[in-house]
Amino acid sequence: MRASDLLHPRPEGLYCPPGDFFIDPVRPVNRALVTHGHSDHARSGHRSVLATQQTLDIMELRYGEGFAETVQAAALGETMALNGVSVTFHPAGHVLGSAQIAVEHQGLRIVASGDYKRQKDATCEPFEPVKCDVFITEATFGLPVFRHPPDTQEIARLLKSAAQFPERSHLVGAYALGKAQRVMRLLRDAGYDRPIYIHGALAKLSEYYQSQGIDLGQLDPATVDSGGKDDFAGAIVIGPPSAFADRWARRFPDPISCFASGWMRIRQRAKQGGVELPLIISDHADWDELTATIKETGAAEIWVTHGREEALVRWCELEGIAARPLHLVGYEDEGD
Ligand SMILES: [Zn+2]
Repeated sequence: MRASDLLHPRPEGLYCPPGDFFIDPVRPVNRALVTHGHSDHARSGHRSVLATQQTLDIMELRYGEGFAETVQAAALGETMALNGVSVTFHPAGHVLGSAQIAVEHQGLRIVASGDYKRQKDATCEPFEPVKCDVFITEATFGLPVFRHPPDTQEIARLLKSAAQFPERSHLVGAYALGKAQRVMRLLRDAGYDRPIYIHGALAKLSEYYQSQGIDLGQLDPATVDSGGKDDFAGAIVIGPPSAFADRWARRFPDPISCFASGWMRIRQRAKQGGVELPLIISDHADWDELTATIKETGAAEIWVTHGREEALVRWCELEGIAARPLHLVGYEDEGD
């Protein structure tokens, strides 16, 4: 069996003909296997969805009950048969509930990793390298310029600034699923024990993380009702990046705009976004993590998707590993 007979791109997403299912389809399909809860990977309207329980919970929180006709939970490490094709979910280290999906048939194993990272993250299970014949890797930060510093170092910069400007508030832009909770957890691990103020858009997901045993400490709503401007002096406030453009951001005293994203490595990008304190914290693998992971899987062939495919394909070729870009459309990760 050729690898492309087991999985190949279709307009709806990555399709497995013998198993008759799609992985992270971008259009409604009969049977969807979903790697994680970010909105570009996990869409509503499929007839059936197979994902980890946490991803199913997150989809329900975001889309409401009935986001699919039927759902089935996949336990990490447990192999299931779908029309004779073996499917196993393995942790991806990206956000809570995120998984890689190993698809195996007639002695051929392909691992679709979805989005992943290798940096330690106390808010989700660590990535587990899986030996395979073909490894499908993302390439969001697939250029050698992207090297993420330790996240503890970035959080230390935020805390230093907060201590330096006790009369100002620090507004931290962070994606609602994963990044926001990771920043909260990092602050706690660094010893920050004051309440963290959060935008309403983060409430449900953060509460869900807490219910899954991830302690984020005291989170208070960053609402006008909860006080005047002075109440937020010296506060750390976390909100989704989109909230920073609207009136919400103007209620805080002399705010310092911060943004937690792998893109903050690009100074120009931070400047254009009016970000005063860029924090390079990413939920995606950087260049070193991508190349190390490719080697670790032992895969003879690499398919590269969503991101900067060319550089990673070229690197593989120079390493003597067959590689090609996989042209999947519709992925703009909300959690970079
Ligand atoms: Zn993602």
